[in-house]
Amino acid sequence: MTSSMHDNRHTAATGSHAATTTDTDRETQTTFGQDAATSARTPKGTSVKDARDTAAAQSGDPPSVNDCEASQIAQSSTRSPATKPLSVEEASTQLLAAARVIDGSEWLPTMDCLGRVLAKPVISRADLPGWDNSAMDGYALRAADLQASNGWLPLSQRIAAGHCGTPLMPGTAARIFTGAPLPEGADTVVVQEVCEPERDGVRVNAEISAGDNIRRRGEELQAGSQVLAAGTRLGPQHLGLAAGVGAAQLQVFRRLRVAMLASGDELVMPGEPLAPGQIYNSNRFLFRALLQGLGCEVIDLGIVKDDREATLAALSHAAEQADLVMASGGVSVGEEDHVRPAVEQLGSLDLWRVAMKPGKPLAFGRIRETPFIGSPGNPVSLFVTFCLFARPFIERMQGISAARMPTPLMLPAGFELTKPVKRHDYQRARVAFDSAGQASIQRFHSSSSAALSSLTWANGLVVIPPGESIAIGDLVAFLPFSELVPGCASR
Ligand code: AMP
Ligand code: MG
Repeated sequence: MTSSMHDNRHTAATGSHAATTTDTDRETQTTFGQDAATSARTPKGTSVKDARDTAAAQSGDPPSVNDCEASQIAQSSTRSPATKPLSVEEASTQLLAAARVIDGSEWLPTMDCLGRVLAKPVISRADLPGWDNSAMDGYALRAADLQASNGWLPLSQRIAAGHCGTPLMPGTAARIFTGAPLPEGADTVVVQEVCEPERDGVRVNAEISAGDNIRRRGEELQAGSQVLAAGTRLGPQHLGLAAGVGAAQLQVFRRLRVAMLASGDELVMPGEPLAPGQIYNSNRFLFRALLQGLGCEVIDLGIVKDDREATLAALSHAAEQADLVMASGGVSVGEEDHVRPAVEQLGSLDLWRVAMKPGKPLAFGRIRETPFIGSPGNPVSLFVTFCLFARPFIERMQGISAARMPTPLMLPAGFELTKPVKRHDYQRARVAFDSAGQASIQRFHSSSSAALSSLTWANGLVVIPPGESIAIGDLVAFLPFSELVPGCASR
């Protein structure tokens, strides 16, 4: 088990950047402020090469698509059906190598940057904190004065946050509150919990050390230092920090435009009557939400019938508008799989046989210059291939420097596997805790890639390596949904 578990660390996948952007559809793109309004109109293709290159340099990225032979994108790994299947890691590495950071950025109010990716670093204009201040509610004094006065000092002033006091009179203490500037001459703050008011002063009932409870000017950040790097996906904590150094607006990459379509004659939208042989188009909802969770501008092309001309028209239209085209279904080698031949006709396509379950095959190519990723139609296959392959690819296109395969947690199996699997199997799983708080991994009872209910039962995927049997308590690789897909953690 040990060696294959090590393999899992490489073959199991994902980037872990939380991104929560709700209004991601193209019609909801909103900007504020003069700079923002101007740059929001920046057409696709406007260069922010310096920002891109910063992000690219930090990630070891290749340069942007304009700088590269786009035709290499799809041709890097042509494999005939007879060739050995790609490992998950090989497929992911090849995909990531082909991803190019998009052109174009915009200035947005910091308030509106949740989930966006920084195109330019944030530099602090001032020290943080800007001056020595109190870390607690208490009393500011000189430690030596307290020793000289048997623990009692008269009060000479009161300083609340947002107000500046006056230099501390020798031999006195100042009442002070958290965040208030330390008065000149004070060297210590004594927390109020160890003090009691006595006459017109304060008695300190504890040993103190000079310098206690003071936040020093610039102890967190110095003026001129980089606060946030280009290529950072902005979560709540990043926005808070940017605001903390006074950044009212941030330069972020424009949203990645992703066109998506669901192919299949059998598909019907919920709300419409279901004829015999038809199913509801669950992938459209799954797909769209996955893309929205990553902050993409979704161009939703709906259902495309199993028809060559309709598929050609939809894909062609998609490639004109989008930075990336994605499709669910129709990418296998069956007669009714029209997406694959249509992409081949409009550009080029590799059908990768990836040694994994579910998810084989994965289609990657381009439609003219626009990259294309096609997933099998089974919803769980779509979900798994999206999380493992499309997500890091999209993140790299969005300018995220840390885009990468996900890293699994190693946790004890709460199940047995006596019949080894043939290829890396991403089974739906969840963490269970016993009464002592010990975690173990449980598997869903079925490994059907059609069963979406397995994904709502699960809170992650367990990666079963080929050729291994698993005993209860063996460490297994677990990819929590919180690591795989923003907004997908189940409680
Ligand atoms: P395909 O990859 O087109 O051969 O589809 C494989 C399986 O996934 C078939 O059973 C399809 O009916 C199913 N499927 C394809 N597209 C969707 C969709 N949008 N929503 C739900 N199931 C789908
Ligand atoms: Mg189909």
